[in-house]
Amino acid sequence: MASKSVQTLSSVDPSSVKPQESCRVCKAKNLVTYFDFGLMPLANRNLSLSQLDLKEPVFPLQLLFCKTCGLSQLSLVVAPEVLYQGYTYHSSVSQTFQQHCREIVSTLKQHLDLKPKGLVVEIASNDGCLLSKFAESGFQVIGVEPAKELASLTQAQGFTTFCQFWGPGVAVEIQRQFGKVDLVIGTNVMAHVDDLDEFLGAVNSILGPEGHLVFEVPYMANYIEQLEFDTTYHEHLSYFLLSPLKRVLEANGFCIIDVQRLKIHGGSIRVICGKKSAAHAVSASVEALLTFERDMGLLEEDIYLKFAARIHHLRDRLRLLLSSLKQKSKHIAAYGASAKGNILLNYCGIGKETIDYIIDDTPQKQGKFQSGTHIPIVDSSRMLKERPDYLLILAWNFTEELMNKTAKYYQTGGNYIVPIPEVKVLNSSSPL
Ligand SMILES: [Zn+2]
Repeated sequence: MASKSVQTLSSVDPSSVKPQESCRVCKAKNLVTYFDFGLMPLANRNLSLSQLDLKEPVFPLQLLFCKTCGLSQLSLVVAPEVLYQGYTYHSSVSQTFQQHCREIVSTLKQHLDLKPKGLVVEIASNDGCLLSKFAESGFQVIGVEPAKELASLTQAQGFTTFCQFWGPGVAVEIQRQFGKVDLVIGTNVMAHVDDLDEFLGAVNSILGPEGHLVFEVPYMANYIEQLEFDTTYHEHLSYFLLSPLKRVLEANGFCIIDVQRLKIHGGSIRVICGKKSAAHAVSASVEALLTFERDMGLLEEDIYLKFAARIHHLRDRLRLLLSSLKQKSKHIAAYGASAKGNILLNYCGIGKETIDYIIDDTPQKQGKFQSGTHIPIVDSSRMLKERPDYLLILAWNFTEELMNKTAKYYQTGGNYIVPIPEVKVLNSSSPL
């Protein structure tokens, strides 16, 4: 196996990073490091053949815990211009996410008193998956998406899309052109935000008095419980519990009126907020989740130190399993050239000597190479032709979907390795 090959790559360019010296939410300097991945490449970046010989940027990846408010956060903020260059995650590729978008629209229509044809702004609208579902339900929709390639996909569907990062500038522009907004929504965006006060302040400024902010973030309780350490990457600056979220939302004029736990992305929460200045009925779910976090010890350092020890154990177990399979000359491929797969392989020091190729259904990723490990990314025809003995499932949050897609492989004796939350081998004689 590649032993820590990422550690020998280029050092960090100081102009592209900013250390996190105080907590993003409460501003205290009460931060302790509880996990260090070492130097890691950018997880969402895949390389073309001609880029393989170039110096590849790597950055420290460390998790800090704020002992004052309980927010987990990265020790370093990589400049967005560096981070989001060549961003390739497409929401619509996943059927699970398509279904999730439909559920969001129907749930919000039921729970919130949304005006027919109301104005909905989606922050980080990606390829327009959720926007299209709102549009189908009769809402007026506006996207905000900084990645040019993705923004052009939503523009091509006829949706007004501002190709920039969310902030006061774009909020002013939307208000000038369209007036006050009824709903601002963001799925998987808050974790990416460095200045939460500026971000939320801009949302507050464009919402009408009865408007709502709804967002979804991966939930730290699931992250700890299910050992989802591979969702730690440079784009994810914060790892949220409801408790620190409540603090930052209230500081910016919002009040949480409901919270729902979701299965998506390994466990997330949907947080529904209104303006503090309006009257709201607050669901009992809010206090219940805050109590759960206290009772589980999620606001104390100890659980994070134990989490770190569990990650070390998982890495050792996965490396041992793969090296014993290689000793038996088994062929191993992986499925899902996801950011989390990138972190898992790079952190565990598993490279081309172990994994022959990674299958991915996103056409833009095929023919490229994973950053750090340089494992080739291919389409599924290669797997059908070569039938690897084992398939390591890197996009474990879509395990069911991937198993359905590769059902024939499985039924005819193929083996899956599911790495998280614990290393498991699945085959038709020992199913899930
Ligand atoms: Zn804090």
